[in-house]
Amino acid sequence: MTDNIAGKVVVITGASSRMGAAAARYLAAKGASVVLGARRADRIDALAAEIAAAGGKAAAVATDVTKREDLKKLVDTAVETYGRIDVLVNNAGVMPLSPVDRLKIDEWDQMIDVNLKGVLYGIAAALPYMKAQKSGHIINNSSVAGHKLFPGTAVYSATKFAVRALSEGLREEVSPDNIRVTVISPGAVKTELLEHISEKDVQKANRDFVDPIAVPAETFARLVAFAISEPQDVGINEIVFRPTAQGA
Ligand code: NDP
Repeated sequence: MTDNIAGKVVVITGASSRMGAAAARYLAAKGASVVLGARRADRIDALAAEIAAAGGKAAAVATDVTKREDLKKLVDTAVETYGRIDVLVNNAGVMPLSPVDRLKIDEWDQMIDVNLKGVLYGIAAALPYMKAQKSGHIINNSSVAGHKLFPGTAVYSATKFAVRALSEGLREEVSPDNIRVTVISPGAVKTELLEHISEKDVQKANRDFVDPIAVPAETFARLVAFAISEPQDVGINEIVFRPTAQGA
């Protein structure tokens, strides 16, 4: 195992479902110690047990990324259990899409709280350790909708554009501390994300677009692994991927 992944301690938010869970399995199989965060504790406990049964190292901590103290506990647990934190994957996200004039204000708040503030809270929890270690890697999950607008994505895109801005600003600031920052922007991936769109017409339109072309969550896992596996003096700053069939 000479891929720069084995032995690393990787914290992953949103590890109870598709992309986060796929990244956890993939990195654990390559010898990383993974620390899983999400609200659904039963799911991350089961995933940690599955990884351990396969000979890997995993811990799970029930985490709501809208709560600063939860992210601190998640990252602190990684350091207490495995001695350090090498990588934080800020993956948790929600996407209750709707046109702005439907005024789904609670859903706007939720997207800002999870997709943007959750990422900030993760950074706040991990950065002091990484600066002290003089090494680290923060990987943020944005979206193709963080590069362009689609019908109904105004607020979701606002959070995902913000994740890109935050990632680049952070990269510029922490590069002297030997901390790498990567932002990954997925296109359509097979996911539970669409299940939480409350507006049924919007959900149907998105299913019609996504379902025929979506690629598996393991695509994201491979790209996370690629970014980590480059030598420490190489930062993969930005990755955009789509299903080949996704024109938009
Ligand atoms: P899923 O809906 O399958 O997974 C979302 C994950 O986020 C779950 O593990 C969920 O865990 C977690 N999550 C949501 N809210 C919170 C919270 N408050 N605290 C902690 N965890 C939370 O979707 P994906 O795997 O697709 O989503 C992963 C990321 O990928 C998201 O950031 C999404 O925006 C992004 N993305 C997805 C695309 C796609 O096509 N699927 C395209 C582009 C980007 P739990 O509910 O247990 O807390």
